[in-house]
Amino acid sequence: MSKTKRSEYDVAIIGAGAAGLAAARDLTAAGVNVVVLEARDRIGGRIHTIHQTGNPLPIELGAEFVHSRTGQVWDLLHASNTTAYYADGDHFELKKGKLVQANDFWEQVGKVLDKLEDLGPRDISFIDFLKRCCRGKDMAEAKKLALGFVEGFDAARGDRISAKSIAQAEAGSDETEGAESFRTVRGYGALMSFLHDHSRQPQLALRFGHVVHVVRWRRGRVELHARTRQGEPLPPVHARRAVITLPIGVLRASAGSEGVVRFDPDVPSHRAAWEQIETGPVVKVLIECREPFWEKTTFPNATTDKPLHNLTFLHGDTLAFPTWWTHFPVRDNVLTAWAGGPAADKLALRSNREILDAAVASLVKLTGLSRHRIARVIRVAHVADWQADPYARGAYSYIAVGGIDAPKQLQKPIERTLYFAGEATASEGLGGTVDAAITSGKRAARQILTNLR
Ligand SMILES: Cc1cc2nc3c(=O)[nH]c(=O)nc-3n(C[C@H](O)[C@H](O)[C@H](O)COP(=O)(O)OP(=O)(O)OC[C@H]3O[C@@H](n4cnc5c(N)ncnc54)[C@H](O)[C@@H]3O)c2cc1C
Repeated sequence: MSKTKRSEYDVAIIGAGAAGLAAARDLTAAGVNVVVLEARDRIGGRIHTIHQTGNPLPIELGAEFVHSRTGQVWDLLHASNTTAYYADGDHFELKKGKLVQANDFWEQVGKVLDKLEDLGPRDISFIDFLKRCCRGKDMAEAKKLALGFVEGFDAARGDRISAKSIAQAEAGSDETEGAESFRTVRGYGALMSFLHDHSRQPQLALRFGHVVHVVRWRRGRVELHARTRQGEPLPPVHARRAVITLPIGVLRASAGSEGVVRFDPDVPSHRAAWEQIETGPVVKVLIECREPFWEKTTFPNATTDKPLHNLTFLHGDTLAFPTWWTHFPVRDNVLTAWAGGPAADKLALRSNREILDAAVASLVKLTGLSRHRIARVIRVAHVADWQADPYARGAYSYIAVGGIDAPKQLQKPIERTLYFAGEATASEGLGGTVDAAITSGKRAARQILTNLR
């Protein structure tokens, strides 16, 4: 495949996240000329890995865990000669002011999620499902934990998320998924670099700082209009087809918002599909401490007089930051605070300073340590508010009630010219992950290569 004119590419890809890079790699390997237009000045999108001196592990401002034992991420880990480790360890939960060990968290959540098998043909929200299922006082705790899981982990609103999509995801996952999470040793960013570096370079043009705002198209021809992030117009880019990997939050943003893209002509069936997919907000705060104080200090709220040597997760469902974790079993100085779904909504429009204050206040409540003690131990803190990021507008997608077929609709090419990819286009309730994004990029590349034959 070659460029017909100097300025016309076979394929233009919008977005250099996991989906866009995976598509670029497969297309260039087949000899297709590709241009990737990316609004930011880096690759990776919602994968943002930073390396700090003195820390053995990288810091993940976006995606962090690998949620299964097989799949595209593992294939890439093997291909790039690295690995991921099992994020095992002790869970503690704040109950009546005390930190109690909660190692049956997944078992409790599983008791509720197993009941999704009995869901009838009509889709309902997870909240409505909770009202119907699992009656009885003995299930109250499990229901509370399951809602906390859906809101925190899926970053979803319980009254919006489709119970059917959760059922599908559960059915598609291996038995122990959720309980089993892995963390990549070199960071997800290394996998993104691998995808980029293993694309056939003569076939690949990657343009940073290109904020696409119009996709003008007709069968077999696409004209992309972009501006710099400062708003200066850039020369249009011409291609025969486009792969659009924009996050759902960007696709759904209202006209005139930063990063939003207008399709000319419109794509009504696909628009109707993406309107049925939501994006969950997440605020993540990564705190580099002067020392792993949880390994050295007995917390006043602990029910043991020993430091929490094997601490992985801390949960406090009413706190501004309800979930915390360490990098255990790797021992380092980093603590992560996580607010997803409704908890993240409550932090909207706050400054980084206010967000950090809210995180510190949550840690004070969890541990019982003084504010002064915690403030003293913090060396550096990184705040990542993904809802406030104009090129993400949220962390990852979930299916709204009634939207179970929306991803399948998004997978359909339009006039063999526009192809949608990105984590939200994964069907069977499996969206929302890096694995889903890579799979979708490879799928779009395959569709194009099939149509080219
Ligand atoms: C805080 C957080 C935690 C997460 N944790 C996990 C996890 O533990 N495990 C997991 O598997 N997944 C996790 N995810 C989800 C995972 O990061 C995403 O599913 C995946 O990275 C999405 O890849 P993508 O290519 O579909 O989209 P993106 O990575 O968003 O790529 C889209 C690209 O399009 C660009 N773009 C946007 N607008 C424009 C425009 N107008 N013009 C040009 N370019 C534009 C963006 O800058 C971006 O680079 C997490 C995400 C977040 C935010």
